[in-house]
Amino acid sequence: MDSNPGLNITGTETVIGQGTGADGAVFRTLLDRMSDGVFIARDYRFIFANAALPRMLGYEHDDFVGLGFDAVVAPDFLELWVQRFRQRIGEGEEPPGRYELRFRMKGGRRELPIELNASRVVFDGQRCVLGIVRDMSGRKLAEHALRESEQRFRGTFDQAAVGIALMDLEGRFLRVNPKLCDILGFRASELRALTMETITHPEDVSLDIHPLRCVRNGEQTTYSIEKRLLHKSGTATWARLTISLLLDEMGAPSHFIAVIEDVHDRHLAQTALADSELRHRLLMHNLHAAVLVCAPDARILYGNPEACRILRMDSALLAGRTIAQLGCQFIDPSGEALAPERDLVRRVLASGKEMNDVVVGVRHDDADTLWALVHAYPEFDTQHRLRQIVVMFVDITDRSRLEAERDADRQLKTAALNAITAHVAVLDKRGVIVETNSSWRAFAERGGYTGNMTFVGVNYLDALARCDRDEAPHAEAACEGILSVMLGRSALFQMEYACHAPHERQWFSLKVTPMDPARERVLLSHENITRIKLAEEAVRILANTDALTGLANRRHFFEVAEEEFVRAQRYETPLTVLMADLDHFKRINDHFGHAGGDAVLCGFAIILSSLLRDSDSAGRLGGEEFAVLLPHTALDGARAFAERLMERVAENPPEFDGQPAHYTLSIGIGELMPDCLDFSALLRKADEALYRAKSGGRNRVEYAARPCNDAT
Ligand code: GH3
Ligand code: MG
Ligand code: MG
Repeated sequence: MDSNPGLNITGTETVIGQGTGADGAVFRTLLDRMSDGVFIARDYRFIFANAALPRMLGYEHDDFVGLGFDAVVAPDFLELWVQRFRQRIGEGEEPPGRYELRFRMKGGRRELPIELNASRVVFDGQRCVLGIVRDMSGRKLAEHALRESEQRFRGTFDQAAVGIALMDLEGRFLRVNPKLCDILGFRASELRALTMETITHPEDVSLDIHPLRCVRNGEQTTYSIEKRLLHKSGTATWARLTISLLLDEMGAPSHFIAVIEDVHDRHLAQTALADSELRHRLLMHNLHAAVLVCAPDARILYGNPEACRILRMDSALLAGRTIAQLGCQFIDPSGEALAPERDLVRRVLASGKEMNDVVVGVRHDDADTLWALVHAYPEFDTQHRLRQIVVMFVDITDRSRLEAERDADRQLKTAALNAITAHVAVLDKRGVIVETNSSWRAFAERGGYTGNMTFVGVNYLDALARCDRDEAPHAEAACEGILSVMLGRSALFQMEYACHAPHERQWFSLKVTPMDPARERVLLSHENITRIKLAEEAVRILANTDALTGLANRRHFFEVAEEEFVRAQRYETPLTVLMADLDHFKRINDHFGHAGGDAVLCGFAIILSSLLRDSDSAGRLGGEEFAVLLPHTALDGARAFAERLMERVAENPPEFDGQPAHYTLSIGIGELMPDCLDFSALLRKADEALYRAKSGGRNRVEYAARPCNDAT
């Protein structure tokens, strides 16, 4: 339809007529220039359209005009459209003119969102609908994009792994995301009452001042800084802040946006790493061990100062060389040079395993061999690929020399110990034997000992404690003596003890001496003193015995008698002493000679001895004078003894040339009285009685009738 509408408004109804005049041409041009579509609809068809509407829907103008509603209105809106169309061309109230719906594009596959502004008009005398159609697709897209962008922003803001804050130009928080709340421990509402400055560690506030000014002045758009922020709990946490300035539409500063990253752990880790690296470097420099780090191709990557010293090479020269290129020779403990393929690094490379405690000599042309204890091991990365080989070696030259000296000392000491005839053992603080000499071991072997022959590890104190007290009464004393030296109570300890075998009497002397001031070790020596003991015994016997008769001599008789005297006095037991003198002995001598006299004396001693009880004792006081001590014996007993003696002598005369040589004896008896002060006094009484026996005619017994202190 080539109609050219013109506008004529009468009353409340808009009347459109065929515009034929100049006004109509203007009106037509205006309609076609409009970007909105314009149509007139009648009889359920579009009977007029300006240029924009068909273009909007993909039609040529002429193809569009005449299309029915169902070809143009999207099916979802057709019913509404038809209903409103009817209302609008009807009599009643007009429905709302402006609403949104969709038109179908040419071909019907796509739909176009439009905004319609419809109104009732009269055209060619008939009620029609005039519509102005605005393409909403651009706006819809923009709205959609905005919505999406807003959602994206909110998502980013809310779920960001970093803290984000929008701040005003004074640094007040306007909007904060959950992550920032998380980092700082505040709720969003609490943060909004704070500023960036109030949550910055006081020492770090000044760090921001300059870059912030630059950003505000527009010299830079953003800056980053690491500083400490204060957590709600008051602790400082390291954060990386990126601050950007937002400008308003006029280009004036409006807000700051801050991106805040929690770098506390990283910061700590970095600090720890830096510390660890420093420590590592210091360690390497001050280590007494030499360290070489080698690449998998056996070339040296690094050598610490001690390695440089031992290898006599600067660290810069070390790097890049192999062990074989170091200009020194490596030898094993026997002095054999190590073949290049047996060098330490190559051995680890070949085996892939660590090597422990290998002793290697390093020999430089002009110097003594330096000995090193080597520990070498491979290091692998997380994929188990060989990363490097570490060779550590410690200079043990001095240690080896000291060990050699100590070995020599030890040998000397062992030789010295073994040269000693005493049985020697060294005990530690607990009494455990740590060393014995050969005499000790030989003695044990002779005694039938079958255990651990070195005795090392045996606790000697325990062994002593296990001794049967009756069998070894000295064990307890020895134990106490050893302990007193070990604990520092005595400077040394010594004791003698008997250790008799069934067929052999033996004596030993035990000496305990500390070996060091702290008494960590004590030396025990058991010396066999049997010979000395036997010699002492012989001397003692000789000293106490009358050589001719074998009886106690005068001195020894007095010793024994004085002890008995004291005992009898203390316990108030009877005690008598006899003094016997052979009658006219001179004549015996004269008759049989001195030797004959001796024989008589010996015979008398035998008779006398045969009458003695165990508790009695007899002695030769001199010449032919004898004394007998009878403990627990009163005067009657003593008299009976004397008479028995005289009888025996009379019955057993010695014989000379087959002839009996009769002799007699006189006996005086003294009895212990309460007034006797000492043994001499008692003996004197017996002597007095003897004197009376002699003077009374001899061959008789007399006893002391008067008290001791009676001098008359
Ligand atoms: P009496 O009856 O008064 O005791 O007369 P006696 O001859 O026995 O006494 P006297 O004291 O006069 O002489 C003791 C003699 O004993 C003198 C001395 O030569 C002798 N005599 C002393 N010791 C020994 C000795 O060991 N062997 C011998 N054969 N004679 C001795
Ligand atoms: Mg005489
Ligand atoms: Mg005499």
